[in-house]
Amino acid sequence: MKQKHIVIVEDEQDLMANYQATLEKHGYQVTGISQQNQAVQYFSNNKPDLVILDVGLGSNPDAGFEICQMLRQQSATLPILMLTARDDEIDVVSGLRLGADDYLSKDISMPHLLARVAGLFRRQKATESIKQTNQISQGDLKIMVDNLQVYWKGELIDLTVTEFWMVQSLARYPGQVKTREQLMNDANVYVDDSTITSHIKRIRKKFQKIDQNFNQIDTVHGMGYRWKP
Ligand code: CA
Repeated sequence: MKQKHIVIVEDEQDLMANYQATLEKHGYQVTGISQQNQAVQYFSNNKPDLVILDVGLGSNPDAGFEICQMLRQQSATLPILMLTARDDEIDVVSGLRLGADDYLSKDISMPHLLARVAGLFRRQKATESIKQTNQISQGDLKIMVDNLQVYWKGELIDLTVTEFWMVQSLARYPGQVKTREQLMNDANVYVDDSTITSHIKRIRKKFQKIDQNFNQIDTVHGMGYRWKP
């Protein structure tokens, strides 16, 4: 099996060495980059399998967001994990808005980091195999599974891969409540409950941009979410 290539962009040398050693020990090929301009140059010539991004690099507190946005423009499906020392909801929301798949606090343990990385790779593999099933239609909703597109009333909704998986998980069995944990499993991300909540908020907003009256995703208190039948 071909080694997966992971790029880490991180300006704290100790952390970088730690991540790099852990990932290499588990069979990944790792490239470390510590500056924004180097990263930009590197990504214009190289396509890794997964990218881990620190948010603040050198004197630019938003470097990671800028790189994330650039990578997302190049590829809709490249798995991107954001790291931050600031355990701050604004960061999480900004990162997800710019297309990051998952978010990690820097004090995360190495086994957790490995689990998240493995989860994103598993999802990529699942994405490949689900492409063989075709499409799901539920009322005004149409999911083109093979190209990961979701349409509402005939209009394409611009979802990230994580959001796509959550919508597909909810809409596949309308009326059934999906817990946050089930949504995480279906999307192959390992995040906290509040991150799932912000994903759902963003999904609703994206549908509402097309259809003001969109009201298809119910919050079921203390349980999770369901797609209205
Ligand atoms: Ca930093």
